[in-house]
Amino acid sequence: MQTALESALLQLDSAARHLGLDDGLHQMLATPRRSLEVAVPLRRDDGTLQVLKGYRVQHNLSRGPAKGGVRFHPDTDLDEVRALAMWMTWKCALIGIPYGGAKGGVAVDPRLLSRNELERVTRRYASEIMPIIGPEKDIPAPDVGTDEQTMAWMMDTYSTHAGYTVTGVVTGKPVSIGGSLGRGGATSRGVMYACFSALKEAGVDHRGVRVAVQGFGKVGGLAAQYLHDAGCCVVAVSDVGGGIYNPRGLDPAALLKHLRAGADTVVGYPGTDEISNAELLELDVDVLVPAALDGVIHDGNAAAIKARFIVEGANGPTTPDGDAILEDRGIVVVPDVFANAGGVAVSYFEWVQDLQAYFWSEDEVNDRLKILMERAYDEISTLAAAEGLSLRIAAQVIGVGRVADAHRTRGLYP
Ligand code: NAD
Repeated sequence: MQTALESALLQLDSAARHLGLDDGLHQMLATPRRSLEVAVPLRRDDGTLQVLKGYRVQHNLSRGPAKGGVRFHPDTDLDEVRALAMWMTWKCALIGIPYGGAKGGVAVDPRLLSRNELERVTRRYASEIMPIIGPEKDIPAPDVGTDEQTMAWMMDTYSTHAGYTVTGVVTGKPVSIGGSLGRGGATSRGVMYACFSALKEAGVDHRGVRVAVQGFGKVGGLAAQYLHDAGCCVVAVSDVGGGIYNPRGLDPAALLKHLRAGADTVVGYPGTDEISNAELLELDVDVLVPAALDGVIHDGNAAAIKARFIVEGANGPTTPDGDAILEDRGIVVVPDVFANAGGVAVSYFEWVQDLQAYFWSEDEVNDRLKILMERAYDEISTLAAAEGLSLRIAAQVIGVGRVADAHRTRGLYP
């Protein structure tokens, strides 16, 4: 199975070939601009000291400050962060927002830390990467294992060192300290728009389509809810503990409430059958939304997938080998760099609001997001149809092409 970095580099190769990029520029785009690895010492509540590894990678800065999430996950390593940073670069260019791509992470399982330990890890990580972040330099946001509280601690740590409040240093903050209305559900809302655009193009009415969602976290949980509220039938969802299935449909809002009330997994939710994450991916549904981790659809299971549409809520859920099999089978893959771009789009809106200290209504945020996602889908599907490309390659060609243009226009220093 290909790693996230191998997948990202192979996808870049395809786009570079299609664009006819020269080797030098191709190499520049394959190489991160900055990779920072830091030690994050953590004093545990029991007094012992543990040293964690942290990372921040700025893949590209040619179109503006770097932008990308921070992941707290035990398997996070430098190569994974590099891949995720590269995908952020293409994503920002694709949807037309003035950022380069970045990503960060700490190799830690946040579920095994107390709240105080989590705060200490976050603040120490923020202070270690402080030399390279800032509203004009690099703006972190939440990702797997982090949330708006993590962003509040990062913003506070940065601001304390600066000596004044710097709201624009992170996005995905609570609204009470400069966050944007609509940011919480933005990635999931974008997943829904992406899904509906693809269904519409195929002439499929979204009402009643059967959906399975892998990963019931920030992205998957609300994506399931929005799809359900819009008339889709969400038959299965999962998390790290396993999956649940009800052929008559689930009520995602009730399930979210059940989790907020203290359940630590969706498994065991009344009225559902337990299934594994692997079984969920192969269910007989119309739409599959992978919204957990990368590399879950690969050459070992792509032939068994029955969904007609895959809408990638997660980053990198499909390896290039898996992609080739899906394409041969005529399965429409709505690619991650577009499908989950709603989060960074509204992060951009949040940053703009912070810089102007002038805040928009939730309707205004959601309307602007819808316009941006529908415009990007039109561009991708038009190119795909004109040049006989998959949606993934078309999206990569647009994103990579815009970044390559920025490099050519700016020239090389010295
Ligand atoms: P999250 O931590 O809120 O949720 C992750 C979900 O995946 C949880 O339900 C978790 O239990 C589940 N999970 C973890 N390991 C798993 C495994 N091995 N098998 C099955 N399920 C597993 O994270 P999130 O923010 O929802 O991010 C999910 C994906 O979406 C990631 O790929 C992330 O990069 C991507 N993404 C997130 C955002 C955002 O705004 N949060 C934006 C764009 C893309």
